[in-house]
Amino acid sequence: MIAHIDADAFFAAVLVRKHPHLRGKPLLALGMGGGCVISASYEAKAKGVKTGMSLKEALKLIPNVLRMPSDFHETALASQQIEEMLQDQCPIIEQMSVDEWFLDLSSRVGGTPQDLSAWAATIRTDVLSRTGLSVSVGVGPTKLLAKMASEYRKPGGITVVTGGFMPPPFGPPPRPHRCGGFGLGEGDFNFSVPHGGAVLLRSIAHCCNEQHGSAVRHSPTMTRPLPGRSAHRPAAEGEGLQGGGMALQNFLQARPAAAIPGIGRRRVIHTDIEGWKTAWDIAQAPLERISQLFGKPGRELQLELRGEPVYAVSPDVAPPKSVSRCRSFRATKDRSELWAHLLRHLEYTVLKMRRWGLGCQGISVWLRNDAYFHEGANLSLPQVMDTEEELQPYVLRCFERVYRSTVACTQIGIALWRLLPKHATQFSLFGQPQELLKGEQLQQALDTLHERFGRQTITRGSAIRVKSGTQQSLDMPVYE
Ligand SMILES: [Mg+2]
Repeated sequence: MIAHIDADAFFAAVLVRKHPHLRGKPLLALGMGGGCVISASYEAKAKGVKTGMSLKEALKLIPNVLRMPSDFHETALASQQIEEMLQDQCPIIEQMSVDEWFLDLSSRVGGTPQDLSAWAATIRTDVLSRTGLSVSVGVGPTKLLAKMASEYRKPGGITVVTGGFMPPPFGPPPRPHRCGGFGLGEGDFNFSVPHGGAVLLRSIAHCCNEQHGSAVRHSPTMTRPLPGRSAHRPAAEGEGLQGGGMALQNFLQARPAAAIPGIGRRRVIHTDIEGWKTAWDIAQAPLERISQLFGKPGRELQLELRGEPVYAVSPDVAPPKSVSRCRSFRATKDRSELWAHLLRHLEYTVLKMRRWGLGCQGISVWLRNDAYFHEGANLSLPQVMDTEEELQPYVLRCFERVYRSTVACTQIGIALWRLLPKHATQFSLFGQPQELLKGEQLQQALDTLHERFGRQTITRGSAIRVKSGTQQSLDMPVYE
């Protein structure tokens, strides 16, 4: 069995922990730039505010809502505190994001707990009493079910999904993944926290198709058709369950299709057309139709829904496929200000990429105007590059293609992609080995200074007008 631990309204809860007078009030934790809601307290959620909403939209719902910049340092510390507690519980643990963890309960000393609900309740109480932070716990035979279970009764919820009966999927099962998530390939986002470098926040869909390899451990509770039982007979609540909880079929019937991580808004249109209203409808859907609509990720998602593990809990963190960074700010047409932001982003993304010993062979730069319209430029590089010196001319070329002096912009971003190991770097036929060597030496010196003393220590002259970090660049008092 797999457990999914998900901290409730994490960024907002961390702010409340630090400023207890905010407890019980509608509060928004804002992202870098202050224009986007990263997390809302449950008092704010009750009035309709959602994660990812723009501040403008949130203020329409709650005009006098309290808002603060997220405290990334404090959040990283809180994340580490929770993770250390979970590691004491279970040796195989996978951090899914800064506030989510999967635990392979079969790896515990003594194996999977007999009473899963009691075990989950103990975890929840311990985390709350030792960190002051609330978590929800979901337990299920697969990662997908565990994740859906933790979301079911937030905040502070406990849901154990087990038992039930599912018909076997048709055709051969897909090759198991070594780790990762599930989903149908919709967006991802990154951001960094000061603790231990960058923490990649992956949407559940991001992991899809990223890693393949060793065989998955099949849970002993993996469901198989039992002789003499009808495939469609609904299981009674709690039927045949360890430690209480919900039977698989009852749980899936209670969840709308849209609640499945990875289905997303685009896919919900398809599921609606097919008449699949609940997660159970998708679990029961003909495999051929699922394959036509969603391909291999869809087949894997269906298996996970049926309680057949496709994705294992893996403590290994995979190297990134791309690194990106963007920042929102007040609308500006100022070319040098936008360029300064871009150089800061380049500094950050190169440092992050080099921590993995990677270089890139592609870059993208984009601008967002004040009407929320994005314009971007992509460039494939002639060889793998991993220094700011090498990349800067190409970044400038992309920037020139998207910048318009008449258009005010509210965000600029960069992505370095097609990441390859550094040893793949080769001097090009017409390159200057001496120049490249100098660039590498300079970059190594910058890496050392940035790693040891922070990115504020040294920066390019053109980037000096833009500070890095969050709190320094935001002058945002708390309004009551
Ligand atoms: Mg959470």
